[in-house]
Amino acid sequence: MTFAEIAVNVPPVRGTFHYHLPPELEGRLCPGHLVTVPFGRQRVQGVVLRLLALADVPETRPVEALVDSVPVLTSAQLELGRWLAESTRTPLIDCLTLMLPPGLSQPADSLYTLVDPQTAEDNPTQARLLQLLSQRGPLRGRQIQHALPRAAWRKAAEALVHRGALLRTPILDTPRVQPRQVHTAALSADAGHTTTAAASLGRPGSPAARRRAAILAMLGREAGAVEVSWIYAETGAGLADLRFLEARGLVVLGARQVWRDPLADIDFVTSEPPVLTHDQARVWEAVRQALDQCAAGATVRPHLLHGVTGSGKTEIYLRAVADCLARGRQAIVLVPEIALTPQTVRRFLSRFPGQVGLLHSQLTPGQRYDTWRRARSGRLGVIVGPRSALFAPLPDIGLIVLDEAHDDSYKEQAQAPRYDARRAAAAYAGLLSALCLMGTATPDVVSAYQAAQGRVALLALPQRILGHRVRVAQQSARLGIASRYSPLEAEAESIALPPVQIVDLRQELRAGNSSLFSRALQQALAETLAADQQAILFLNRRGSATYVFCRDCGEALRCRRCETPLTFHGPQQELQCHHCGHRRKMPETCPACGSTRIKQFGAGTQRVEAEVQRLHPSARTLRWDRDATRAAGAHDVLLAHFANHRADVLVGTQMIAKGLDLPLVTLVGVVSADTGLNLPDFRAAERSFQVLTQVAGRAGRGLLGGRVILQTFQPDHYVIRAAAGHDYRAFYEAEIHNRRELGYPPFRRLARLILRHPRLEQASRESARLAASLRARIARQDVRADLIGPAPCFYARVRGLHRWQIVIRAADPAALIPDTLPDGWSVDVDPVTLL
Ligand code: ADP
Ligand code: ZN
Ligand code: ZN
Repeated sequence: MTFAEIAVNVPPVRGTFHYHLPPELEGRLCPGHLVTVPFGRQRVQGVVLRLLALADVPETRPVEALVDSVPVLTSAQLELGRWLAESTRTPLIDCLTLMLPPGLSQPADSLYTLVDPQTAEDNPTQARLLQLLSQRGPLRGRQIQHALPRAAWRKAAEALVHRGALLRTPILDTPRVQPRQVHTAALSADAGHTTTAAASLGRPGSPAARRRAAILAMLGREAGAVEVSWIYAETGAGLADLRFLEARGLVVLGARQVWRDPLADIDFVTSEPPVLTHDQARVWEAVRQALDQCAAGATVRPHLLHGVTGSGKTEIYLRAVADCLARGRQAIVLVPEIALTPQTVRRFLSRFPGQVGLLHSQLTPGQRYDTWRRARSGRLGVIVGPRSALFAPLPDIGLIVLDEAHDDSYKEQAQAPRYDARRAAAAYAGLLSALCLMGTATPDVVSAYQAAQGRVALLALPQRILGHRVRVAQQSARLGIASRYSPLEAEAESIALPPVQIVDLRQELRAGNSSLFSRALQQALAETLAADQQAILFLNRRGSATYVFCRDCGEALRCRRCETPLTFHGPQQELQCHHCGHRRKMPETCPACGSTRIKQFGAGTQRVEAEVQRLHPSARTLRWDRDATRAAGAHDVLLAHFANHRADVLVGTQMIAKGLDLPLVTLVGVVSADTGLNLPDFRAAERSFQVLTQVAGRAGRGLLGGRVILQTFQPDHYVIRAAAGHDYRAFYEAEIHNRRELGYPPFRRLARLILRHPRLEQASRESARLAASLRARIARQDVRADLIGPAPCFYARVRGLHRWQIVIRAADPAALIPDTLPDGWSVDVDPVTLL
């Protein structure tokens, strides 16, 4: 007999269990298969981890059935799952579930059937349950939950089952997604021989006969079966006409499985690879050699491609993907945010038409399922998507690219497993003999340190490529500066990064200018608009204004639920909490001292936009923030609008910092560079440097050049200075020095334990208790480690729950976390923030 070790999906059960294979499954099961198994009184799903000759328990139960005849996980994915479980301290099944398309994996449920309608109820809940079941017939637990959301119906059902009034049978939901079928029609084999006398198609000359003749003519031109919707569109015919022809043996109706493809409607032109610049050729040679070694089965270090925005990194990714495809292997390309994917996706689509699959959160379950299956079957060569696209089931992955690798969206922060796609990609690439290629303009200091140590290979593209000449040429011709444009050459030119001017806002205030824009920024904006060029004004938050505070007592208005400072929104005249979503009216007086001198302070995108309009009434402004781009696809529309010079000034939050190529932008004004610099977080400086560098890189990507004006209250801060000088090295040296002094990553790793609790006192008490037991553990193990906290988090209350944290700082903090933690605690190993 063969046994199987199976990880089951029955929250809160998290273990793996042994089952035996019934005769009909002998020889058909392998690791990675999704199966149903009995578990207690339920029937549940599980993933086969491995097959065994012996079970470690005397009595085993049989595997019931295969959910999918093809394994849902590759063996490399199973290994990646184990790595994730270990490194994030999360149960294996939760890590494996990440890799299954939603809708395929289903938690177990029960079906409740009323057997004795005459039964007497003991309490109102039982009465409601009995009434529900007698009205609607048998129902699943989830349906009952929906109908009686607040009732303790499970307890009531339990009692009724016990009494024999209800029958409970374990069931699994059928997968919510199915392959999609379309109806087709084709010419029958005899249609060619049959002389389709006009008479056989209906009354000669009638509209029906004409439609039917049109169908036959169209199908005659097609090689095989054609989707009926297409036939309807081409001929104006309907199903009745097809049925008519089918009845006469002229047409065969059928069905075909189709892929739901989110990219089907995107237009693109195929593009040829350009001749590489000298820098690119040097980088490409290194990447090509690494890919060679991978193909030979070697384990290759991750490669870090450090290149400013516009230096040609994407072109290197494209070559690497092409190389990988040519070897018959597949590639995964990770991008930080869905807002960015349209541009990146389009470049991959146009280079590899028909081979790119897109995975992201806005897909329908059907699209996601189909893309997942196309990946699994090897029909797709490239998968592009956010961090979760790492789990695409491609059969032989040779390359994993991470674009904008510094971006925090690569880290899952909301729920377990709290994995970091960058670390996971590096580990996965090692398992696969694949190349992990991470590109960024501003490497995080941990990666840069690893590169300095030789654990990561460093590649550099120090210069920007002058892109989009044609578009610039057209624009400059319109602007009357055509003489500055030189025609295309074999090799692209490079251009300098824009100069950055630091403006000290303290001096502006002293000089009596309390407006949002310094005199330097006002002048630069006026010049830019006068020259019919474009400007970007950058702000690190949204809303028409930011903190509201009292000019008399200094009290800032905070959210009552989570203590985050509230933001004032002009149009609704209300205050919003951006952390928990709470809203309230703007109060008339200060809640602390009663003063009426409470005002919004700081600036939001709407206020910046209003200020531009006040100064330049004829300027066309465009606002890009979360409020303005909530609708799907809005990013693309806004961007195209601005790129086509249908607006002069773009006002936006950190979203404008990345991913766009706008050659007519000659001025970037950073309205407040200090935002975020003084947050109580070990990465506050790094994050500020990254966003300032990215936004400064927006200026002057075309022939027209550009400049950046950076307004700050802290002009001497090393982050401000390094960002202004485009000086990554200077930033890195200062930052790595601080990290070493303070014992932060990369010198020691962190693990963050967060407790969420409705009661403040208890949160504090329970945190102290866990901290004490962790300290005892550390002392017993005799390792060098220390704890930060326990303390309330910076965002001390979220959605009504108090948040307390303990941070473990050690060489391997995960090893110090107990296997089970008390209720309410969550674990984040290698957190990207401590806020
Ligand atoms: P990054 O990914 O570093 O931001 P891109 O690869 O997007 O840089 O390159 C910037 C611009 O230069 C793009 O418009 C791209 O099409 C163009 N470009 C890249 N490499 C070349 C090349 N070898 N020759 C001509 N244009 C290039
Ligand atoms: Zn006050
Ligand atoms: Zn709140």
